[in-house]
Amino acid sequence: MLKDQDRIFTNLYGQHDRSLKGAMMRGSWDGTKEIILKGRDWIINEMKTSGLRGRGGAGFPTGLKWTFMPKASDGRPFFLAINCDESEPGTCKDREIMRHDPHHLVEGALLAGFAMGAEAAYLYIRGEYIREREALQQAIDEAYEAGFLGPDACGSGYAFDVYLHHGAGAYICGEETALLESLEGKKGMPRMKPPFPAGAGIYGCPTTVNNCESIAVVPTILRRGGSWYASFGRPNNTGVKLFAVSGHVNTPCVFEESMGMPLKDLIEYYGGGVRGGWQNLKAVIPGGASCPILTAEQCEDAIMDFDGMKAVKSSFGTACILVMDQSTDVVKAVWRLAKFFKHESCGQCTPCREGTGWMMRIMERIVTGEAELEEIDMLVNVTKQVEGHTICALGDAAAWPIQALVRNFREEIEDRIKARKSGRMGAMAAE
Ligand code: NAD
Ligand code: SF4
Repeated sequence: MLKDQDRIFTNLYGQHDRSLKGAMMRGSWDGTKEIILKGRDWIINEMKTSGLRGRGGAGFPTGLKWTFMPKASDGRPFFLAINCDESEPGTCKDREIMRHDPHHLVEGALLAGFAMGAEAAYLYIRGEYIREREALQQAIDEAYEAGFLGPDACGSGYAFDVYLHHGAGAYICGEETALLESLEGKKGMPRMKPPFPAGAGIYGCPTTVNNCESIAVVPTILRRGGSWYASFGRPNNTGVKLFAVSGHVNTPCVFEESMGMPLKDLIEYYGGGVRGGWQNLKAVIPGGASCPILTAEQCEDAIMDFDGMKAVKSSFGTACILVMDQSTDVVKAVWRLAKFFKHESCGQCTPCREGTGWMMRIMERIVTGEAELEEIDMLVNVTKQVEGHTICALGDAAAWPIQALVRNFREEIEDRIKARKSGRMGAMAAE
């Protein structure tokens, strides 16, 4: 298990205050000017050495992403947008950073922004995160007051501003290009990619969009070195990370651990075990709602990182683990997710707008037991029409949990339909 001295966020939880004074006592803003003076190339090289992969869910290499920004300005300003619109069902890890360590994020914004030649960072925060917004705003105000931000940030001669933008509670605004649209004051609808934001982002200017956790770990990586960070986890899956475990466990929590740990160990150690014991486990969604659902058997030896989850045909996502015990109606649980994605679809592309409705309605017929057995294959067929045929990843996110349900729990679906037909099961409500 990770040692306290290697925990970036959770080493002193409960024992420190989040104000500038408390943050500085824990090392924030220490030698920031010296780091800046080492130059952009040094910072980007350290980030590449760290192996950090985007912590929002997709896992794109952070250092590499920063190199996509133009090397020289063509007259347009450059920006950094930080995605604090954490909305994936079951996901609450960035919230911890905003609540307890906002200065990690603000200092990270300056260092990352400097490395890319950005003149400002926009922190886009989820509409429901009210206290977190207050904590972040306090940290930004304190940083300005101390001279850490502004025309001569940390006395480095570099001018840098940080703005906080509060979203209105739409899940789709966490998609990076919808976030940019929303920042510009428009309806949050994803843009076609390419162009990627580094080519045309906020108001058409070069912009990098990074997740909250990805930016908040930057100061520690630069202080302790990319090699230190890369010493955790395994190749291609390096570093330490915030995880969460919720659902049918004894101690739901957010915790910090090394990448590459066995999923079972994380549930047992941090989650306090499955309610009723490991043998009572039925299913796990490993990294937020869009990740394919796993059976208990698949969880037995699964490794919790990008490659480990790929090996069991799921994905690492946000690393927020949802645990379901034998009392769970998994069919109904996945129907509930289908309803969520249907509700959150922005509706601009037909396969997603219509497909999420189809998926939800067929799932509803299965839940109530009214479906015919042939509808199971029809449902899978609909998911294939949506997957890969949409502007943004929401279509895929809606399709994958259903595909995994049919792949891993087909018998349960069939039993349900057969039971209704044979009169063994009464009408069920999908509420
Ligand atoms: P993506 O793979 O399309 O992109 C990931 C990042 O890499 C983006 O910043 C993108 O611009 C960049 N990128 C990818 N290919 C590139 C290229 N060829 N050139 C330049 N840049 C490139 O994934 P996504 O749609 O951004 O994110 C999907 C993930 O988001 C899902 O895996 C899901 O787990 C996660 N998610 C998280 C939340 C949350 O609350 N944290 C909510 C919904 C979804
Ligand atoms: Fe909108 Fe869905 Fe298309 Fe994404 S996939 S752009 S959410 S309609």
